[in-house]
Formats: sequence, structure tokens, C-alpha cells
Amino acid sequence: MIPLLKVPMSDRAPAAVAEVVGSGFVGQGPLVEEFEAALAAKLANPRVVTVNSGTSGLHLALHLLAGDDDGPDGPGEVLTTPLTMEATNWAILANRLRIRWVDIDPATLNVDLDDLARKITPRTRAVMVVHFAGYPVDLDRLQTILDEAEARVGVRPMVIEDAAHAWRATYRGQPIGGTHGNITVFSFQAVKHLTCGDGGLMVLPSDQLHQRASLLRWFGIRRGADRLRNPPDVPEWGFKFHLTDINAAIGLANLEYAEGVVARHRENAAFYDAALADVPGLELTERAADRESSFWIYPMKVEDREGFIKRMDAAGIMVSNVHERNDLHTCVREYRSALPGLDRIADRIVCVPVGWWVTDEQREFIADTIASGW
Ligand SMILES: *Cc1c(COP(=O)(O)O)cnc(C)c1O
Repeated sequence: MIPLLKVPMSDRAPAAVAEVVGSGFVGQGPLVEEFEAALAAKLANPRVVTVNSGTSGLHLALHLLAGDDDGPDGPGEVLTTPLTMEATNWAILANRLRIRWVDIDPATLNVDLDDLARKITPRTRAVMVVHFAGYPVDLDRLQTILDEAEARVGVRPMVIEDAAHAWRATYRGQPIGGTHGNITVFSFQAVKHLTCGDGGLMVLPSDQLHQRASLLRWFGIRRGADRLRNPPDVPEWGFKFHLTDINAAIGLANLEYAEGVVARHRENAAFYDAALADVPGLELTERAADRESSFWIYPMKVEDREGFIKRMDAAGIMVSNVHERNDLHTCVREYRSALPGLDRIADRIVCVPVGWWVTDEQREFIADTIASGW
């Protein structure tokens, strides 16, 4: 079987981990600092805070903005996408906030920004978007929508970008996580482009949020203080969400390696874009000239998905929709709403192997198999 997802691990990682494990110090230490400095340089943004997973980053991001806060109009609401890993949305529930689903744009598989604009109210505490598959949301248009909302209803909710798929993706020449004025959260989980084994990164839009995030990821306690002679006060309680030096060592070993990983995902995607453009019963997603996807996965929309999966399975090609729509789960039934855009495509989405492990021969075989019909 040609796999759909794989762990991209550099040859240098095992020795780097062995060194930390044998060093006598395995917690959050100098390697976390070194990793953060390297990540800040990659994104050209100094306001980065590593955490132990993307999920923790999303949880803390919402906590910074609105955690457990009942406003004058009742519990706050977060506008969010139903087409994502459940981690995105369970972070909202974990903060005791309410979900308000935004419809999906069938062209991009990202949130439908027109629908989002309509749903902003004084109860909106935050807007959660996912750069699905690594294809950036139209961030400038989103800012315009927020400008208009501010003028209309007097609120300007913070945007949280779930960039778990989008390491090294760019929008209008800037990396996602560069300087777009939002909170951006990356995942360094096992099968993401850049892996720490498990880990995550928050990018914050102000010094104040940056400082709070870096304190609240570890109980709210200032690290490095002289605890005995000058015990640090904890003005605000926090979580145990910090990254360890073990995971930072893996991340550091993979940081440059991930550049090649992303490049190969893009090469394979460009090959499919050309090879699959005119296949009957198949529709590719949007490619706008002002942004570059990182193609963590390669989603397409196919007629007769059952038949497609059977055909690929028989050929030894692993395919999947990767993420199930979240809005139909029982635990969020109270938030169900009409999502006609998502309804139109949910049963047609399927992803084919696009990653660094897919060879020239394999991608040709995959494209030929698809083109031969199902
Ligand atoms: C992987 C993923 C997450 C969660 O990241 P973890 O690091 O596994 O906690 C969140 N959102 C999306 C879209 C993901 O793909």
C-alpha cells in the first residue's frame, strides 16, 4: 500500500534525542529556547511560544481571549469550521464556549467568508479558521470583514488560525504565522510536516499576549526565578502545556529537513494538478495566485466516492477523507445548523498520497490509476 500519511523524521533525530535523554535534564530547558529562536527566525516573527501539542495551543489561545467568561449576553460564541480535526473544535468546548458553525466554501474547503461575515454578533468572542490541507484562508478579506463587523456591531473578535496543516504555507508573500495580526497555532504532531513527536507552536500578535502565553503554558509560574530567596508570585493560573527538551531536540533535528519535506509535497501536488485537471468525475480545489499551499494532504472532490475508494484500494493506494465533518457528532448536537456548502461536498472529499515519500513512479501510477476511471 502507498501510505497516505507518514512520519517525516530526519536521520539526525535519534542521536539528538539520545543526547538529551542521557544528559540528566529532560524538561523545558535550553533546547526549547533554541528551538523557539530557530522557529522565530523561520517565520520572521519573534512572538512564538512552543507548547506540547497543537491542541494545547488552541486551548490556550481561546483561554487567553475568552476562557470561561460569561459576557453580558451569556456564554461567548466562537465561529468555527466544521471541516477539521476535532481538536480545533473541542478546544472551544474545553473553554466552555459555544460553537457556531460557519459553512464551508466548496472551492477551497476553508470557511465560507460570506457566511462568516453574516454570523458575527456581539456574542462572538473569537473566529477560528483552518488552512485546510495547507491552503491559506483569504486573510486580508477576513480582516476587511472584521473591520466591517467592528463598524456594524462594535466587536472585533480575535482570529485564531489553526495552521496545523500549513507549516511554510504563504499568503501574499508572507508565511502563515508571519505578521497577520492573528493568533496562529501550528501542530508538530507525528505526521505533520515538521514533527517533534508531539508538539505545537503558538504565534501571538502582541507582546502582552506573547508574555501571557509563555507564562500560562507552565502554571503561570515564572521560570528561572530564584524560587527560594525570591519566590515568584503567580498572578494568573496556567496549564501544563510546555514542550520538553526531548521533543525540542526532535524538532530541531527536523527543522531544516522539513523544508525539503514541504518542497516535495508541493512538487507532487503540482504534478497532480497538471495530470488530473481534466479527469471526468473529479474536481480539484482552488489555486489562487496570491497564496501557496503546503499541501499537507491533497484533497479532491470525486463522484461516487465509494467506487473511487474501492478502485484505489485494489491498486494499493491508500486514500481517505482524513477529517470527518465535526458538526454531526453527538456531543455537539445542540449546535447543529444548516450548512449547504458542506452538504454539497462532504461525501465527495477524498485525499490521495502526496507526501515526501511518494516517488515519481508512484505519483505517475496514482494519476494513471485515477485517470483510468472508477
Ligand atoms: C493535527 C491537527 C490538530 C491537532 O494538533 P496536535 O498537535 O495533534 O494536538 C489540530 N487541528 C488540525 C486541523 C490538525 O490537523
